Amino acid sequence: RPIPTMERNLPNILVTGTPGTGKTTTSEMIANVTGLQHINVGDLVKTKQLHEGYLAEFDTHILDEDKLLDEMEDMVKDGGKVVDFHTCEIFPERWFDLVLVLRADTQPLYDRMEKRGYNQRKLQENIECEIMQVVLETARESYAQEIVIELPSNTVDDMESNVDRVNRWIEAWKTQHGK
Ligand code: ADP
Ligand code: MN
Repeated sequence: RPIPTMERNLPNILVTGTPGTGKTTTSEMIANVTGLQHINVGDLVKTKQLHEGYLAEFDTHILDEDKLLDEMEDMVKDGGKVVDFHTCEIFPERWFDLVLVLRADTQPLYDRMEKRGYNQRKLQENIECEIMQVVLETARESYAQEIVIELPSNTVDDMESNVDRVNRWIEAWKTQHGK
C-alpha cells in the first residue's frame, strides 16, 4: 500500500512498547546522540491536561485524543522528533518514518515495574500485554510493515545497540532524502 509522506527535513520516529520496556530512556539516548527532539507524550498529556480525567481503578488518565493530536500536529510537521508513547495506533500513519517497538522479557520487565511501585493489577496487566505482543501487533496493523522494527530491550547493551542502529538509520535517511 502507498505510504503517505510529508516533506520533512528530518525523520520522525515513534518509540513504543509496553510500560517499562525502556521507551523514555532509549528516546532520551536517541535524542542525545542524534539531536532529534524527544517528545514524552505521557508527560505532555499531563502538563497540557490533554485528558478527560483520571481513572483511579486503573491508575491511568483517559486520553483526549483529539486534543492530543491537535497539540502534536505542529510539533511533528517539520520532522526531527522522537515520540515516546505506549499507545501507537492513535497517531496518523503519515507522521512517522520509523516505528520502534521495544520488547522486554518477563523478569526484567517485572523488576522494573516493581521498582516503580506499580500495583499488582497494573503489573499483571502489563506483563500479560508484553507476553501477548499487543503493542507489536497493534503497530504492525497501524503502520506499513517495513517501517515497524521490533527491538529487544533487556540490557544496557541492547539499549546501546538500539541507539546505534537508529543513529545509522537516520544518517541513511538523510542521504536518501538529500538532506
Ligand atoms: P518506559 O518509558 O518504556 O516506561 P523507561 O525508559 O522509563 O521505560 O525504563 C524503566 C526503567 O527500566 C528505568 O529505570 C530504566 O533505566 C530501566 N531500563 C529500561 N530499559 C532498559 C534496558 N534495556 N536495560 C536496562 N535497564 C533498562
Ligand atoms: Mn516512559
